[in-house]
Amino acid sequence: MLFSKSFIFTLREDPRIAECRSHKLLLKGSFISMVSSGVYSYLPLGQRVLNNITSIIRNRMDSNGAQELLMSALQPIEMWQKTGRDQTLDEVMFKFKDRKDKDVCLAPTHEEAITEIVRANAGSYKKLPWILYQIQTKFRDEPRPRLGLLRSCEFIMKDAYSFDKDQQGLDDNYNKMFNCYKEIFKDLELGIVATEADSGAMGGDISHEFMVPSEIGEDILFCCNGCLKYFKEKGTCVQCNANLEEVKMIEVGHIFKLGTKYSVAQDALFLDKNGKKNPLIMGCYGIGVSRILATIAEVSSDEKGIIWPKNVAPFDVTLVVLNDSLLEAAISLRDKLKIQGLSVLVDDRAVTAGVKFKDAYLIGNPYILIMGKTYLENKSVDIEIRKNNNKFNLTENEVLNFFKKEYDN
Ligand SMILES: [Zn+2]
Repeated sequence: MLFSKSFIFTLREDPRIAECRSHKLLLKGSFISMVSSGVYSYLPLGQRVLNNITSIIRNRMDSNGAQELLMSALQPIEMWQKTGRDQTLDEVMFKFKDRKDKDVCLAPTHEEAITEIVRANAGSYKKLPWILYQIQTKFRDEPRPRLGLLRSCEFIMKDAYSFDKDQQGLDDNYNKMFNCYKEIFKDLELGIVATEADSGAMGGDISHEFMVPSEIGEDILFCCNGCLKYFKEKGTCVQCNANLEEVKMIEVGHIFKLGTKYSVAQDALFLDKNGKKNPLIMGCYGIGVSRILATIAEVSSDEKGIIWPKNVAPFDVTLVVLNDSLLEAAISLRDKLKIQGLSVLVDDRAVTAGVKFKDAYLIGNPYILIMGKTYLENKSVDIEIRKNNNKFNLTENEVLNFFKKEYDN
């Protein structure tokens, strides 16, 4: 991609509406644009990051045997009356009437919808278990949307639902998803803390939250000064007796053992081996996809910009061209890197070097290549690794070998 042709419009000044670092950097780097309070569009850079996040999630979900589907956002309110959640979730639901005067809503979550689908298709225990998931937009009528994508009215989630014939099956699927989440967050290079949590409006007995420490987080945990374990209650550590310190956390995932709450209310039954009808035993597993985008921007950034992890970055490399006469050489290097599977943003614009470096940091690709004076002298390029600020000078062949090693996994 040539910067001069791209739909990238970085801002010189900090946007006045920005409420936290991620919000500021995502707006400033033109990853997102604000539609109204709590509602955002994803611009091409933001969409590239989202695509990378969702492909990590898809790969891990699929390799754990989950099957992807896509459910509607627009739903009849009757479906929610069966579980009573048209009332308990009333405050956060966007509800309205359609032209036939029917009550409808934009779904804030999909337990009812998936249970309806499975009710219509469940049969023998022999086809069980199932884990079904989607990556989809949800809606919440937030009383106070804030912190950009972290508390918004429209957001992207990965939500999965498991269906089993017995408790043992649910326990197995729950553990499988727990481990799958650990893999996903490892791929995303997000240091997470998993703790047992309250189930809240979802019902069911057991649940775990996946959280990332951040000063703007809205959840609180207590971290031990001694053994660094996290706890829900304040006091002293039960493991080593050291003091516990309050840490703010951003919740990025939540998994629940739902049991039969929804299947009983919605009559989602299967036939057991004796031909008897039983309610399906359910679990549900959520990850905030757009919230992960913001969380990475929040915790993996400095004053210059976001430092995207390799698996997530919009491009692998920003190639800064400091002299018009080098454009042809830059395109040729880009093509060689492309053959190695790398995506490269070539900054070919007629602007100052200062502007180019500022934007390279704002966009946050993990590697910055600089083609300028040293290329004119001896055909070498400077490389800067954004993660650790290491800088060195390489010949073109060394550049190709360097990236072969960096992406050899
Ligand atoms: Zn401790």
